[in-house]
Amino acid sequence: MNKVPHRIYLREDQMPTQWYNLRADMKELPDPLIDPATGKPATEEDLYPVFCKELAHQEMDNTTRYIPIPEEIQEFYRMYRPSPLIRAYNLEKKLDTPAKIYYKFEGNNTSGSHKLNSAVAQAYYAKKQDLKGVTTETGAGQWGTALAEACSFFHLPLTVYMVKCSYEQKPFRKSVIQTFDADIIPSPSDTTQVGRKILAENPGTTGSLGCAISEAVEKAVTTEGYKYVLGSVLNQVLLHQSIIGEESLLAMQMIDEYPDIIVGCAGGGSNLGGLIAPFMRDKLTGKTDPRIIAVEPASCPSLTRGRYAYDFCDTGKVTPMARMYTLGCDFIPSANHAGGLRYHGMSPILSKLYHDGYMKAISAEQTKIFETAIQFAKQETILPAPESAHAIYGAVQEALRCRETGEAKTILFGLTGTGYFDMVAYQSYMDHTMNDYIPTDKELEASFAKLPKIPGIQ
Ligand SMILES: *Cc1c(COP(=O)(O)O)cnc(C)c1O
Repeated sequence: MNKVPHRIYLREDQMPTQWYNLRADMKELPDPLIDPATGKPATEEDLYPVFCKELAHQEMDNTTRYIPIPEEIQEFYRMYRPSPLIRAYNLEKKLDTPAKIYYKFEGNNTSGSHKLNSAVAQAYYAKKQDLKGVTTETGAGQWGTALAEACSFFHLPLTVYMVKCSYEQKPFRKSVIQTFDADIIPSPSDTTQVGRKILAENPGTTGSLGCAISEAVEKAVTTEGYKYVLGSVLNQVLLHQSIIGEESLLAMQMIDEYPDIIVGCAGGGSNLGGLIAPFMRDKLTGKTDPRIIAVEPASCPSLTRGRYAYDFCDTGKVTPMARMYTLGCDFIPSANHAGGLRYHGMSPILSKLYHDGYMKAISAEQTKIFETAIQFAKQETILPAPESAHAIYGAVQEALRCRETGEAKTILFGLTGTGYFDMVAYQSYMDHTMNDYIPTDKELEASFAKLPKIPGIQ
């Protein structure tokens, strides 16, 4: 039997030229966004003040199955894609499992994550619409870096609101973002009304993604020629990230493989939604039935302990409301080091699929995650981002189950990025100063009690 190579690469001319829109194959669609001002479903036009037009269109497009990737974006992708599909031979050996473990590695670019896949698309469409600039938020800093790279490439000014606790924990993230000429402001800040309000109510706050989103949106809508862009959660972002899954599917076909189990970490859902997209297509159309597992931090457990309800996408309650698994938009997670997984909600597409039983979710405490991350670094010589380590953890659990049952399942997981900017977190794990705070039911109930009341809906 020929041994499968360690790294499986597509040739440039085999790369996908279309994004796949999962919504076109869903049996039931996610519930529509609701405009908080009217209580009615938002239209594409309602999104124009916030998003650029093409992206607003992609956000609302539930029917176009394949969307051609513009040539300029394909050209940009070719600088760092295809990303490798890697067979984790050493990890398999270490776990003594009959399972075959593959991972799709998205950390081979300066942003150190999959986020560049959507950043380049969003910067491209903004430039094409002749915008004067864009604003965004960033949690751990990967999205801010990715977007700064993309905006710099297309000569588009960018202002980034970075969650304060990450800004303080990761000073070099700030420097990288500045290298690409973006402005960066720790959030909450006094540069917006909503930031000043949040600071007044909660002066010691270390911030949250929801709060940084509110600031970025306010800045965009109050600055002429500016729009807002977002790195996760939205349908358009899952669409762009489908490149991860389409490449994975093609690479696996090259070696006659197909995953029985697919695992991804879930913050806002973009890498997981992208990774699973073509496999979910097969599942929805009855071709195959892979098991799909989302892994989230126990400190911010939106799928495993959240409510499936309409909620705001941000703390400042300025965005439309989406029906999703949420911990409540006022929920501020403890200072969890997996900064990119600290969002209170979850992609409405993934929320709907999870609600309808097409995927499972588990959560894990962060010390377990770092233990897994360090083991993985030693076996596979990639230092994973803490976010990505959640996916490794889920894959390892499945591989260990295979060891018990003797089943040689094929496992695919998404290794979303590298952890070089997370060494403060790694160090605190090694120094045993990291804690595993998990919100109590009472804390979550208090947050759920504040979910918006919408007459006739909830
Ligand atoms: C942002 C990020 C995540 C989580 O975001 P999703 O939208 O859930 O994919 C995971 N891993 C890395 C490395 C990230 O930067």
